Amino acid sequence: MIEQAILEITAELSEARNIVIVPHKGPDGDAIGSSLGLMHFLKNKGHQVDVIAPNEYPKFLKWLPGNEEVMIYEKDKENADKLISDADIVFALDFNHLNRSGDMQDILTASQAVFIMIDHHREPSDFANYTYSDAEMSSTCEMVYHFINKLRAVEKITPEIATCLYAGIMTDTGSFRFSATSSETHRVIAKLIDKGAVNHEIHNNIFDTFNESRLQLLGTALQNLRVKHNYKTAYITLSQEELDKHNFQKGDTEGFVNYGLAIEDVIFALIFIENKQEGIIKISFRSKGDFNVNEFARAHFEGGGHNNAAGGKSELSMEDTITKLNNILPDYKELQG
Ligand code: 5GP
Ligand code: MN
Repeated sequence: MIEQAILEITAELSEARNIVIVPHKGPDGDAIGSSLGLMHFLKNKGHQVDVIAPNEYPKFLKWLPGNEEVMIYEKDKENADKLISDADIVFALDFNHLNRSGDMQDILTASQAVFIMIDHHREPSDFANYTYSDAEMSSTCEMVYHFINKLRAVEKITPEIATCLYAGIMTDTGSFRFSATSSETHRVIAKLIDKGAVNHEIHNNIFDTFNESRLQLLGTALQNLRVKHNYKTAYITLSQEELDKHNFQKGDTEGFVNYGLAIEDVIFALIFIENKQEGIIKISFRSKGDFNVNEFARAHFEGGGHNNAAGGKSELSMEDTITKLNNILPDYKELQG
């Protein structure tokens, strides 16, 4: 983000404003962590700040400081629309196209507020007045730290802010192991610990709060794992019936897709999760190295994301979706040999 933009944003924030913060639909740890971290920072500066998430998010994020203040657009549309209409500034966090805001897209498109995007997805669209986009970054939470630093306000980072940002960096980097984790990411993490993020507690609150049925659902997912060694690919399926049997709650399948990558030589992992209510199969894609799942998801499954982590969907049955995958894989020479 150029110095001129920072000066202009500093001026925008120099008096009390009505600010709305929006993460992407299906918010993950990075989306909620960055939204709440920024919310605390801006509230402490004296602004009126509301975080409006397009829809619900997993229970393992619901302990984050400030969580009780998050408004869910799908549940509270009227109040949310009013807040958006009254907003002077809208921060769009962790997404690159307004269509990633789900049902909020229309009201956001109509809004006259100053839009500030902070995001690390490739190919940002230009809906924002100020776009801080960097696809090399580990996470939007890391970028919010850099944003606060650019505003020369690192000393204003409280333990609440540090906790939210730490949680999002940790989840988006797979606990600091994905390739986007840089030495700078670790320096930011070190600063956040200095500012009061208690790392072992954050890890415990996010990863070690399974109930039995969630762990048993993981068992079913691993039973369903199929490996296609000649394409260095592994995939998992979960039908609606299997989800129901294990009392599926939002977020219960988080991280399951990564197990495929734990198999030697596998560089491409997928999970297909049936959603009967929406009439789709929701798909997550993960890869190691140069195999680009963002392009794969865009080309075949109406999705996108990052080079090594993307999502998409299929409107075919589970069986036909798997057949489609099997027909596509031979086109990718980089998965062979
Ligand atoms: P996940 O597999 O964890 O749901 O998503 C992985 C990454 O892909 C995230 O960065 C997420 O924002 C992105 N993503 C997930 N689903 C979709 C989708 O349907 N469309 C696009 N464009 N990106 C997605
Ligand atoms: Mn992210």
